[in-house]
Amino acid sequence: MVIFDTIKKRIKGFVKRDEMLNEYTSIRIGGPADILVIPDNVEDFKWLIGFVRKREVRYFIMGNGTNLIFSDKGFRGVVIKTNRCFNEMKIFDDRIFAMSGIDLLKLILKSVENGLSSLEPLIGIPGTVGGAIWMNAGAFGKEVKDCIEKVYFIDRYGEEKEAEMNFSYRKSPFNRGDIITGALFTFEKKDRLEIMKEMEEVKRRREENQPLGFASAGSVFKNPANGYAGEIIDRLGMKRMSIGDAEVSAKHGNFIINRRDATCHDVKRLIEKIRDRVKKEEGVELELEVEFVKEK
Ligand SMILES: Cc1cc2nc3c(=O)[nH]c(=O)nc-3n(C[C@H](O)[C@H](O)[C@H](O)COP(=O)(O)OP(=O)(O)OC[C@H]3O[C@@H](n4cnc5c(N)ncnc54)[C@H](O)[C@@H]3O)c2cc1C
Repeated sequence: MVIFDTIKKRIKGFVKRDEMLNEYTSIRIGGPADILVIPDNVEDFKWLIGFVRKREVRYFIMGNGTNLIFSDKGFRGVVIKTNRCFNEMKIFDDRIFAMSGIDLLKLILKSVENGLSSLEPLIGIPGTVGGAIWMNAGAFGKEVKDCIEKVYFIDRYGEEKEAEMNFSYRKSPFNRGDIITGALFTFEKKDRLEIMKEMEEVKRRREENQPLGFASAGSVFKNPANGYAGEIIDRLGMKRMSIGDAEVSAKHGNFIINRRDATCHDVKRLIEKIRDRVKKEEGVELELEVEFVKEK
């Protein structure tokens, strides 16, 4: 109560109690957050982080919620969205500095507009720059790390830092508690029409292969070392398998869609079923790419 009132009084932006998180995730799953805050500016964001850390209030940073599945019971603590405060972008010749709350799409369009090539294979990833860096998002042979020169972040002790980082497949070196504030991206100069042609091809392939009209959190599993999770799931005949309203997409075996009222519990059970079958029949341990966020 005191925590909510203090935040509400101090922060410019959206501050709400018991806000349903299914409204903020692409898979449309998640119960109420004790408090959801969307600060309007960086100064208020920093104050908020200092405040929750000092008071030892549990918090979670989110971008667009396109890789997340919150608990059906919601989140005990404060969920903080970055998109309104970390929203600046600047171009310097063949480099772009983008803050973490910006949509990756916006960064890609800015680069293309300026004849800068690199990130176009990632068109269609619906996350923010921060979310993409956090998990080193990638598609069609390209990863975000391939064009990052430097990342700016606040570490879990509150210190502002910038660093060149080592990333790996769907993994950044950040620790829970680190907050990515922005990054400097480098590009290659290229003919705009050529970049746009490649982007159109990527969009076409996504539309052809992914269930884009349905609520989902993208690929559920990371691809194992020698193959594609979606292909294995398809081969084992698990497309369309469902629990409650959670269903393995008929279009892409590595997507679980929320037909309407799927719960986190449904998705978890479906995932366990898939993992067990894949382990038993193919001897492969599928690792999660989507992230489940615990209630407490
Ligand atoms: C239809 C669809 C297609 C997709 N296709 C792809 C694809 O091709 N390739 C791919 O890699 N992914 C894909 N995804 C998954 C998802 O879009 C990406 O992982 C994206 O990068 C997540 O960004 P986000 O802003 O939504 O992050 P969120 O889902 O909000 O958060 C993800 C993680 O990042 C952390 N995080 C976010 N911002 C910050 C920050 N500023 N500082 C610290 N931590 C932060 C969160 O705490 C959380 O741990 C797809 C998803 C959908 C729904």
